[in-house]
This record gives sequence, structure tokens and C-alpha cells, in this order.
Amino acid sequence: MALVVQRKPLSWLENTYIPQILGGMKITLKHMFAPKVTLEYPEERPVIPENYRGVPTLVKDPNGRVKCVSCQLCEFVCPPKAIRIWPGEIPEEAETAHVEKEPDDFEIDMLRCIYCGLCEEVCPEEAIFLQDTFSVTGYSRDEFKFRKDKLLQLGGTLPDKHYKWDKKKEAALRGNEH
Ligand code: SF4
Ligand code: SF4
Repeated sequence: MALVVQRKPLSWLENTYIPQILGGMKITLKHMFAPKVTLEYPEERPVIPENYRGVPTLVKDPNGRVKCVSCQLCEFVCPPKAIRIWPGEIPEEAETAHVEKEPDDFEIDMLRCIYCGLCEEVCPEEAIFLQDTFSVTGYSRDEFKFRKDKLLQLGGTLPDKHYKWDKKKEAALRGNEH
């Protein structure tokens, strides 16, 4: 059986709509004088927190060397398979020849990336970091496939917190000189 709910009759004052109008005006005035929380993007830029996970990038060490040794761990662990690496050798004539490997090319598909940070977590060389770039735009799918040069340009040089292989690299370089 249908249950009919009786509607409460409006009082005389409620019938004038004045309390509702005043209530609405009160909220409008409150927001008019409240501190601004919206940004006029892109002229105004948000303050990015230190631990923000933006676009993954490749970084160089403080000596300007590419840190990635193309071990492919990040490629293996990346959940949406956004990373592709073409491992290569460091050219004979380079200062660091015979010391490490380096990727011939490196690609991250930003349309597949879910910014999970697993690549950064797993990297034994601390070569890949999710930094503060958050605005990625383009006109075609290919433009979102960032290759090695672009990833290095975005990554720049980070202060190396651990620098764990540096002594070994320096020793190997000295060995190459003899
Ligand atoms: S942040 Fe996650 S999804 Fe993006 S490249 Fe790294 S592992 Fe892959
Ligand atoms: S970025 Fe790190 S985990 Fe990925 S291939 Fe290079 S060294 Fe290995």
C-alpha cells in the first residue's frame, strides 16, 4: 500500500521567501570576503609540494653523467608498461667508456603513465625521478612519447643523495688512464 507523506504547510514568513533569500545572500557575502582559493591558471601557478609526483624524468649526476645504466628494472616493474628502453654501450671515445652502460634510447609514454612512482622506487641508480612537471599537452599521441633527450632535459641534474657508485666510477676512470 502506498504511504502518503503529508507535506508540512509553509508558515506565513516562509511563504514570503525572505528567510531563504537572506540565507542565500549570507552565503554569497561570506564567499565574497573569504580568502581566494582559486588560481587564475596558467598565469598563476600553484605551489608544488616537495614530494609531488609529476612527470617521470631522467636525471644526470652532479658530474653531468647520465645516471641510468639501462638495467631495465623500471621497464619491468612499470604497471601499465609505459617505459621502453633500448640498452646501449657508452661510446669508446667517451670518458666513462667501459665503466657503465647507458640507454641508447629511453621512452616513457605519458598517456600510459599512471604516475605511481614505482620506477623511481625500484631504480638502483636513482636515475629516474617524478618531478614537478604536471602540465603535459600535445596535439598527437606521438607527442606524449617522451624520448631520452626530452626526459634528460626535464630531469636536469639533481643533488645526489647517495652517490653510491661514484667512487667505483672514479676508480675505473683512473684505471682507464693507465
Ligand atoms: S610512474 Fe609508474 S606508470 Fe609512470 S613510468 Fe613510472 S612505473 Fe610506469
Ligand atoms: S632508470 Fe633506473 S631502473 Fe630504469 S633502466 Fe635506468 S638505471 Fe635501471
